Amino acid sequence: MRELTEKASVGIYLVQDGVFKYVNPKLAEIFGYTVEELIDKKGPKELVLPEDWPCVEENIRKQISGEVETIRYNFRGIRKDGEIIHVEVYDTAIIYRGRPSIVGILIDITAQVRAEERLKHINAVLYGIREVNQLITRERDRNRLLKGICDALVETRGYYHVWIALMDESGKLVTNVEAGLGKAFQPLIKQLEHGVLPVCGGLALSQAEVVVIQDQRTRCGNCPLVEKCCDKGTMAIRLEHEGKVYGLMSVSIPTRMVMDEEEQVLFEAVSKDIALALHDIELDEERRRAENALRESEERFRTLAEKALVGVYIFQDNRFRYVNPALAKIFGYRPEEIVDKLGPVDLTHPDDRHMVIENIRRRLTGEIEAAHYTFRGIRKDGSIIYCEAIGRRIEYHGRPAIMGTLMDITDRKRAERELRDAYRRLQRAYEELKALDKMKRNLIANVSHELRTPLTIIKSAVELAIEETDPDRRNKFLGMAIDAIARQTLVIDNLIEAARMERGQREFNITDVNIADVIKQVSDEFKSMAIKSEIKIEVNVNKNLPIVRADQDKLRYVLRNLISNAIKFNKPGGSVRITAEKRKDMVEVCVSDTGIGIPKEEQARIFEPFYQVDSSLTKQYSGAGLGLAIVKEIVEGHGGKVTVESEIDKGSTFCFTLPIKGKG
Ligand code: ADP
Repeated sequence: MRELTEKASVGIYLVQDGVFKYVNPKLAEIFGYTVEELIDKKGPKELVLPEDWPCVEENIRKQISGEVETIRYNFRGIRKDGEIIHVEVYDTAIIYRGRPSIVGILIDITAQVRAEERLKHINAVLYGIREVNQLITRERDRNRLLKGICDALVETRGYYHVWIALMDESGKLVTNVEAGLGKAFQPLIKQLEHGVLPVCGGLALSQAEVVVIQDQRTRCGNCPLVEKCCDKGTMAIRLEHEGKVYGLMSVSIPTRMVMDEEEQVLFEAVSKDIALALHDIELDEERRRAENALRESEERFRTLAEKALVGVYIFQDNRFRYVNPALAKIFGYRPEEIVDKLGPVDLTHPDDRHMVIENIRRRLTGEIEAAHYTFRGIRKDGSIIYCEAIGRRIEYHGRPAIMGTLMDITDRKRAERELRDAYRRLQRAYEELKALDKMKRNLIANVSHELRTPLTIIKSAVELAIEETDPDRRNKFLGMAIDAIARQTLVIDNLIEAARMERGQREFNITDVNIADVIKQVSDEFKSMAIKSEIKIEVNVNKNLPIVRADQDKLRYVLRNLISNAIKFNKPGGSVRITAEKRKDMVEVCVSDTGIGIPKEEQARIFEPFYQVDSSLTKQYSGAGLGLAIVKEIVEGHGGKVTVESEIDKGSTFCFTLPIKGKG
């Protein structure tokens, strides 16, 4: 019997008066003692976990008192080395050596209990993971998600506590959450904020695998959580997805479970799920940020464009995709009449379409990035406007388009043109003024010269005539004086006439005039001058010339000036020919000479007051440059025209017309 109990694989004992009277070797082994250390030396109380002792004591009492005979129960024992074990006992009350005792069998069920506990724990963890996964799929707010995860892992009692800290790339704490720690977490937050990581955290960040800490007291240094976790183990892992580390998660679990591989695998799986969720949320946030930025920039663009005073447009595939109100207004449309209905070509003048199309093509093909040009546009009402456009290539809905601004520069163009015209007019006026100024300066010299020369001639001719006794010679001197007087009279008459013209006095004393008579009389006035200049005067007037309506005195002026010039600018031996003919409703009078002629480019200008082909003081020909201006004024005042035809060195022909009586 004894041999049987000695060899038994269950613990067998006998207790009397609270002390072991017998234990077999197996029992001693279960508790880590020798048989001798227990028999007569220790009792059940020393092998039972204090928390469980009241229950064990009560069971012993029940048996000793005979309330129950046998009893089966479990309790937690303490081994000699302090380890807690789970045992099951079958006790029977007996009388040993005349005194109540208990014999019993004790089985170490630690492994079994642990397996059960583990199963329970794993179940709890799995349940937690399920909760976590549900959270991940429904919660898009990062902090709420992390908090939810911590709570779920703790609430299911899979873990005693959980904390998660997220860091940015520089290691700065971004956010932290915990469950199961409460106030105890505060000191750690302080550390994390200062960039100090607990041992588990530091290790987790430096390795991909799960960090396992069994013995916190020796390994965790002065981590603020050590007190709280002293009987627990720690697992920590970094939250990593596709190489990006978001932060770390640390949990505490029963010490004996930390080494469990399955436990670690589950923990790692949760961390991966969390990291994936963080990655998703990050993508979401990025997408939302991008969407917001896009929406904001679109809004900004729209507000800007809608309020802009210049036209703004986007077109693609030859259709406007956007135009602002200002652009539509420039072309006289409403925006909706243009968008998706018209293209740039429809708003362009046909003559400029080619240029505009080419500009668009070059930008769309990428030949140029932007273009700045002006073109003529057509408004809805068909009117033409000048536009200035600046447009560049953009991507619009993923395809090339052109966006730009457009201004109506019609007013500017008009102003520019007017300015240019005004400038040109000013330039011309300036030139004229310059010429006039020069001529006026010459005039004073000219006029005084023109008046003095004949006077000198008159004076000396008259003096000579007085002295002269020979009647022929005296007459010759007197003739000279008369010619000079005639010349001077013409100059003075011209000056008076010019002054009158200047004052705007253009009164004509119109009567019926026999032009042939007037021509005859005036040409006779020049007879002696012509002889002296060796010029032949020829008058060729149609006998049946009709009567003209004219101011006779003014007509004389005209003829005097033309004939005087024809003689003056002639060459010795030359001739002056005066003709008069009827032409339609007019009589045309022409005075031709065989003189020096007038350069083509000067011919228009000689009719301007004071203009002379040679106006220098050293000029060869006398005169103040007023004659032709007066001629033109008088002839045109009569409703006629003056013309000149001339060839250098061959001669000139001046013609003027006068209206025939009763016509015109
Ligand atoms: P003036 O004869 O006093 O100079 P006019 O007005 O009569 O002034 O003529 C203007 C200018 O026209 C002259 O100075 C001269 O250069 C040119 N001109 C006029 N008539 C003739 C002509 N018959 N032949 C050549 N030049 C002429």
